[in-house]
Amino acid sequence: MSASGTDFCENCGSRASFAPLFPAAHATRCCGRCGGWHYFAPLPAPAAELYDRDYFFGAEYRDYDLSRPAQHINFQRKLRLLAQAGCGIGASSRVLELGCATGDFLALVRRQTGAATLGVEISAFARGRAEEQGLSVLSPEAPELAQHVAEFAPDFIVAWDVWEHLPRPASVLDAHLAAAQPQVVVALTTVDASSAVARLRGHRWRQFHPPTHLNYPTRRSLRSFLQDRSFRVRSQQSFGYHRPLLEYVGALGLQPREAGASQRWLTHPVYLNLFDTQLVIGQRQGS
Ligand SMILES: [Zn+2]
Repeated sequence: MSASGTDFCENCGSRASFAPLFPAAHATRCCGRCGGWHYFAPLPAPAAELYDRDYFFGAEYRDYDLSRPAQHINFQRKLRLLAQAGCGIGASSRVLELGCATGDFLALVRRQTGAATLGVEISAFARGRAEEQGLSVLSPEAPELAQHVAEFAPDFIVAWDVWEHLPRPASVLDAHLAAAQPQVVVALTTVDASSAVARLRGHRWRQFHPPTHLNYPTRRSLRSFLQDRSFRVRSQQSFGYHRPLLEYVGALGLQPREAGASQRWLTHPVYLNLFDTQLVIGQRQGS
């Protein structure tokens, strides 16, 4: 794959022309149709190896368990936004979550609504934690995945902060949409390459960190993806996150354990919105 030329865009999900973006060492190109960014260098390790226990305890998250109170608030807000968009999850819903990590969102959905759930997760460590919660979770590399999803026939597909991690997010979503109910709802949060901070910071943007982040859609990318597939976009907005106070303590150079992460106050959720994460909800106008 090269920096320029015509190819399938994994952000807007159509054939498009590409142009190099940033100095060549960053191996990133920009879609001429949607403006989404795509990192095209070969990955240093299989994805399953990138997301081991260290990813959840030290690399991406300082301490995944201590972030759970904050994540619970984020998940509740997402459920509320779905309901406000006219796409509330109910007892008869069938929710497929891509990149379900340790399964906390699906466990909440099941507990709160009674909906049926199915998760997909690359990390063996995270799958193990999800299975401990009694959830059904498959690896994206499992040969039986397509059949399981087809039998499950989801009417909700959600992916929270997953799109940017996938080498081929549009293709993956297309495959699952083929097995979904006609009026399926898709709800995503991901980075926003059209945000002011992304445009201003370029390759110094905090969200730009290949090889864990590979695809960086703009708002137009996801609108185009959905509209090209007969979806009505019901909501598209920036989404700020609650994070545990210890994440901010860590940003000051203190390690959570040194700072006394066992202390309850360090799990206190603090809200921050840099307006560089987007949430989009769309519903297929099927018959
Ligand atoms: Zn594109």
